[in-house]
Amino acid sequence: MNTNAATYYGDKSVKKLLLYSTRCLNCGGDVETDQAYCCKACYETKPPKMAWIEKEYKTPIRELLLNFLNNHSESFVADYLGITPWTLYHWKKKQGIKKVVRYE
Ligand SMILES: [Zn+2]
Repeated sequence: MNTNAATYYGDKSVKKLLLYSTRCLNCGGDVETDQAYCCKACYETKPPKMAWIEKEYKTPIRELLLNFLNNHSESFVADYLGITPWTLYHWKKKQGIKKVVRYE
């Protein structure tokens, strides 16, 4: 597990986001108090950490990941965002992000 300070702070902020959001973090629909999502599908589409990162960087996750991945190594990106390489792999898959290698 990642134990750097940024990650720790991030996770605390994620908890805060979950506690105080009054709208579904994925679709923006009404939610019950303390429920950050309206349904399981919304939770799976945009997990808490992803919602937090989007909010923090004010950028849609796909665009953000593309920017990071085109400028840094995958391990750096995962570490920087405070997610595991496995999570990064799933997020890329979910967003339809593919690495293209071209020989010239
Ligand atoms: Zn929703």
